[in-house]
Amino acid sequence: MHTILIVDDLPANREFLITLLRGRGHRLLEAGDGVEALEIARRERPKLVIADIVMPRLDGYSLARRLADYPQLRETQVILCSAAYDEKEARALVRHCGVWRLLAKPCEPELVLDVVEQALRETRPREVSPAGTPVTDEQLGVVGDKLHQKIAELERLQGELERRVEDRTRELQREVRERQQAQQALDAANRRLREESLRDGLTGLYNRRCLDEVLQREIAQAVRHERSLSLLLIDIDHFKQCNDRFGHAAGDAMLRAVSTHLRAAFREEDTVCRYGGDEFVVLMPGTTPVAARDCADRLRSRMRELQIVQEGSALPPVTLSIGVASMTTSRRSVTAMLQAADRALYRVKQAGRDQAQLSSDYMALDLLPPHSAALA
Ligand code: GH3
Ligand code: MG
Repeated sequence: MHTILIVDDLPANREFLITLLRGRGHRLLEAGDGVEALEIARRERPKLVIADIVMPRLDGYSLARRLADYPQLRETQVILCSAAYDEKEARALVRHCGVWRLLAKPCEPELVLDVVEQALRETRPREVSPAGTPVTDEQLGVVGDKLHQKIAELERLQGELERRVEDRTRELQREVRERQQAQQALDAANRRLREESLRDGLTGLYNRRCLDEVLQREIAQAVRHERSLSLLLIDIDHFKQCNDRFGHAAGDAMLRAVSTHLRAAFREEDTVCRYGGDEFVVLMPGTTPVAARDCADRLRSRMRELQIVQEGSALPPVTLSIGVASMTTSRRSVTAMLQAADRALYRVKQAGRDQAQLSSDYMALDLLPPHSAALA
């Protein structure tokens, strides 16, 4: 077992070496500067001193030289570590100070272990200031000044680097924020565009394109959950006459008023669309054919009471013809359902308008009890 004294003014550096050397059977001592190290060394006679070069009070070179003043420390070897040294001058000083080895910081763990083991094996006494010019305190002072200048320069560069990193980080954060904002604006614009592409410009109701999508989805849901699905195909009676008698603007006003009424008359889960011209479709998930037809009848009577005033004149009451179709096991496509409703609507028009009729294949509906009296 050997005693090793670790000298560094930075606790983290001492900790690094202690962690590295711990568990190797040596006694590890610590000192925070050269003066403290000298005191401990005199008392504890370490086999090896590992010291930083730049330290307050007494630097590493001076420490190495002063250790040699004590006869009991002649066999104490010294390893110096430093991040900032002028290689040429430092090596000369190492020779004069009898230092075993000079290590550059950051120290490679493997190298440190290797050098430490070699130093511990060394049995020859340490030679300080061998033949040649001995190092004067003045020379040591010059090196110390240079080292301090170097450190100051390094600190300045470090500060500069940190400032640049901070500036760049701020720049990147701003870029990220701007990109996020642009992405959000784009998403919102896309949502608006999609919403607009699904709406009818005059009435604000969903349009026919949207109807196709929604109806397809509702059919799939109804099949999956084995529930009813009905739809109403609604057509305003003699709408053309309104246009002809009161003008196109009055026709538009009537379409808008009917739309508003339709939207208010149905449940949240129902979908109200303008199918085209004076035709509308209402999708009613979970609604049986009979309930849908009752609903259509109620709608007709309330619509007749709707008063529409256009530029001061009242428009004639609105009557509706409505074809009602429901999903069956054999009618599970958008086209089949709309065609069934269209056929029912056609029959209503033939029968004199202002009515609601279920599609004629109603008796084949699997979803209805065969004795139901709702057949149109
Ligand atoms: P029926 O009772 O058989 O349904 O007859 P109708 O007059 O209601 O039906 P028809 O299909 O003959 O006429 C519908 C008219 O709706 C024809 C078209 O000029 C008009 N129309 C279609 N779109 C608009 C619109 O956006 N605004 C206005 N004002 N009129 C429209
Ligand atoms: Mg019409």
